[in-house]
Amino acid sequence: RSKAEGRNTYRFFEAKMGEETKERRLIEHELRQAISDGELSLVYQPQMQIDSGEITGFEALMRWHSRRRGDVPPSVFIPIAEESGLIIQLGDWALLEACSEAASWEEPLTVAVNVSAVQLHSQDFPQKVRDLLLKTGLEAHRLELEITETALIKDMDRALGTLRQVKSLGVRIAMDDFGTGYSSLSNIRAFPFDVIKIDRSFIKSVDKNKQAAAIVRAVLGLGRGLGLPVLAEGIETSDELKFLSEEYCTAGQGFHLGQPASIEHFDHIVRASTHFREKKAAAS
Ligand code: C2E
Ligand code: MG
Ligand code: MG
Ligand code: MG
Repeated sequence: RSKAEGRNTYRFFEAKMGEETKERRLIEHELRQAISDGELSLVYQPQMQIDSGEITGFEALMRWHSRRRGDVPPSVFIPIAEESGLIIQLGDWALLEACSEAASWEEPLTVAVNVSAVQLHSQDFPQKVRDLLLKTGLEAHRLELEITETALIKDMDRALGTLRQVKSLGVRIAMDDFGTGYSSLSNIRAFPFDVIKIDRSFIKSVDKNKQAAAIVRAVLGLGRGLGLPVLAEGIETSDELKFLSEEYCTAGQGFHLGQPASIEHFDHIVRASTHFREKKAAAS
């Protein structure tokens, strides 16, 4: 390869990297704007008990409908928001929106909100959560914060302190995407989780794939031993659901059980059933 060719390749990379940085900056700028322009929304995905099929709550997932770009997926904008620190504002927005929404439901279902490492480690996080519960009137046990292993290992002592403070409010903590991070088994014991969410990469074809099945069984055993419920993420087929049911997995979430959708879609679930209303009327 000639020297000139090498130089050109270098220039090409340099130009490309420059473009990528510019693009990220641009997205960051637009995202900042998106909050005030009302381009963000939350969709909700049902979480259910596997044995009864009962919906116990919803996970709130952020959506960005950009006027300029169309729908931008969280896998694109969340990392940019995390790097720029903008995730604090986005996260505050999501927490307020999800808690206000859940506080308006007639059924006392839980709402799970994703919290990134940057938010968790921000100065006043426990205080923020406390204020939010007071402001919205949502009962603490109906809020579940989903935190990934990766968020915890950044500064474990601090994360543990923060989680303990949040938990003392009565808020629930879920370990999200379990199995994909770097955390060791001792971390699960140290952190005050209420539920373990097995990452969807292990649920995919769990009914056919021996390795996936072995891992899922091990996590279910772990949950059982620790007295923690386990929720399987990303259930896409009835065969995967059947496997999980036969293995006594506590809870599940996935396209097969319910797609994430705007909350209006779940109106009939969050509104008190006539049965429930009759029971309440009879009791009073
Ligand atoms: P996550 O918290 O693990 O959320 C689950 C993701 O799996 C969601 O993707 C959901 O739409 C998707 N999913 C659910 N069921 C299935 C299924 O059966 N099959 C497949 N293939 N996927 C399924 P989404 O909404 O694109 O979000 C991706 C990630 O972005 C989330 O992963 C979470 O880490 C992050 N995220 C989303 N909303 C927020 C937020 O408000 N704050 C923060 N910090 N992160 C968020
Ligand atoms: Mg999650
Ligand atoms: Mg997850
Ligand atoms: Mg994830």
